[in-house]
Amino acid sequence: MDIREHVPLAPLTTLGVGGPARYFAEAATEQDVRDGVEFARSRGLPLFILGGGSNLLVADDGFSGLVLKIAIRGIDDSAASGRRIFDVGAGEDWDSFVALAVARDCAGIECLSGIPGTVGGTPVQNVGAYGQEVSETIEDVRALDLNTSQIRELCNPACGFTYRASIFNTTERGRFIILRVRYSLKPAGETTTTYRDLKTFFADRVTPPTLAETRQAVRQIRRAKAMLIVPGDEDCRSAGSFFKNPIVSREHFLALQTVARARGEEMPGYPSNDDNVKIPAAWLVEHAGLARGYALGPAAISRKHALAIVNRGGARASDILALMDQIQSAVAGRFGIELRPEPVFLGF
Ligand code: NAP
Repeated sequence: MDIREHVPLAPLTTLGVGGPARYFAEAATEQDVRDGVEFARSRGLPLFILGGGSNLLVADDGFSGLVLKIAIRGIDDSAASGRRIFDVGAGEDWDSFVALAVARDCAGIECLSGIPGTVGGTPVQNVGAYGQEVSETIEDVRALDLNTSQIRELCNPACGFTYRASIFNTTERGRFIILRVRYSLKPAGETTTTYRDLKTFFADRVTPPTLAETRQAVRQIRRAKAMLIVPGDEDCRSAGSFFKNPIVSREHFLALQTVARARGEEMPGYPSNDDNVKIPAAWLVEHAGLARGYALGPAAISRKHALAIVNRGGARASDILALMDQIQSAVAGRFGIELRPEPVFLGF
């Protein structure tokens, strides 16, 4: 495996900011991953695992350790008890895999079309959108356990999936390197169109949409929000949603709603687990007085979605952080809610 030095990281992220990696390597095999880990360990270097760079903010000074980009490829599929099992390398492009599953008429991930990044990133934050999340279809995750140096197959319950979380980004953060993921999809299955945006999109349909039509609809909806990477669209130079949708107790939500109503605003909220309520962060940003398109130097709020911070060209990580702070202060000042950033911060 070729270990390079002083490799710029900005071009490897969708946001396009940040400095270089002191060391950088691409791991195309499980042995490469082991070699990368050994290289970092033997030199006492911090190790960072890079997937598609779609949810990442790199510091201006870069990262002083080894960045290991997972490039394990390969998609195998087989039949099992009325399901189709896809065994996918962690370095495969997620949306290309979704396209393949849809082309093979297998249901379960079509609503996750157009999400940038690689397959290995999907279990980490239990990627979800438009009414589906990967925890519904992941059979198991093959990973290198850095505690024991053994490769393990973690079954779905062992991954501890919850809303946008798993053991990989909570209790066991940094312990596993994901190598492959197996998804169990439903052949000739029906699509899921329960989500508001999809219901609206298909409002005039009499027959249920096909998987391919759902995929196309999701990509179109994402494109309108600049949440689909389209070359040349400056609003896509982002890390996707920059803030998590906050979850508050029902009591807290009702109190917030009462205050908002007194101001003539209707705060939206969706039931979450355990009698909690999920509040769309984009609504909070816009109602805290920060409109889409608002810019602070070369960092801006996307013109198409209030939740995305965009690099308008030449932005530094410090510009992104300054805008992040401003948004957080505005929302905290107006609603008393602390917005938490969603991207991973590297080198800060
Ligand atoms: P949106 O559709 O405006 O929704 C904003 C928030 O309201 C989300 O928390 C969403 O819940 C909730 N919501 C909207 N309609 C709902 C319904 N009918 N029932 C229950 N909850 C509802 O959000 P957006 O920012 O444009 O994102 C579109 C989709 O992409 C959402 O599903 C969002 O979660 C997803 N997304 C996922 C990630 C990720 O996996 N890291 C990042 C960005 C966006 P849900 O979150 O449960 O959908």
